[in-house]
Amino acid sequence: MTETKGLIIVNTGNGKGKTTAALGLGMRAWGQGLRVLVLQFIKGNWKYGELMAAERMGADFVIRQLGEGFVRNAEGDARSDHQAAAEEALTDARTEMMSGSWDMIILDEINYAIKFGLVPVAQVIELLKGKPENLHVVLTGRDAQPEIIDLADLVTEMKEIKHPLKQGIKAQKGIEY
Ligand code: ATP
Ligand code: MG
Repeated sequence: MTETKGLIIVNTGNGKGKTTAALGLGMRAWGQGLRVLVLQFIKGNWKYGELMAAERMGADFVIRQLGEGFVRNAEGDARSDHQAAAEEALTDARTEMMSGSWDMIILDEINYAIKFGLVPVAQVIELLKGKPENLHVVLTGRDAQPEIIDLADLVTEMKEIKHPLKQGIKAQKGIEY
C-alpha cells in the first residue's frame, strides 16, 4: 500500500466546488513539489483569481486554455467548429499527459465536453488507460459519464444545498472569480 500510484479523480455533480476542489488538490500537490498543469476545456471559463495565483506560483503550476477552446453555448457557430476545437483540445491533452513534464493534470470541464458529444468518451477512456503510471489526472464538470466513473479511483459528487446566486446575492470576488 505504500507504492506511488497516479490516481484518476473525478469531481462532478450540480453543486459548486468541482473546479475549486481540483485547484485545491493542485495547490496541495504543488506544495509537495509536484508539477501541476490545468487544461481548460471550456473557453472563457477562467476566473482571474486562479490565473493570478498561478502566475505567482511559477512554472510548476500552469493554467492553460486548450486549442482554440470552445464556448459553452454553441449558438451562432457551426457545431463542427466546436467539435474541431474540442478534438484539438484532446490532442493537446494527450501530448501533455505523455510528455513526462507533469505529475498532476487537471482536465477542467472535460465532462461537459464529453456530455455534449464534442469529445468522444471512448477516446478519453483510452487516454486515461494509457496514461503514465504515476500521473494523477483530475476530471471536472457536471454529468460525468458512467464509463469515466467506472474507471476512476476517486469520485466525488458535489451536491447543491444552497447557492447564494439563488438568493439574489451577486458573484463575490475571491469566491466566484
Ligand atoms: P467552482 O469553479 O466555483 O468550483 P464548479 O466548477 O463546481 O464551481 P461549474 O459547473 O464549473 O461549477 O460552474 C461554473 C460557475 O457556475 C461557477 O462560477 C460556479 O460558482 C457557478 N455554479 C456552480 N454551481 C452552481 C449552482 N448550483 N448554482 C448556481 N451557480 C453555480
Ligand atoms: Mg467548474
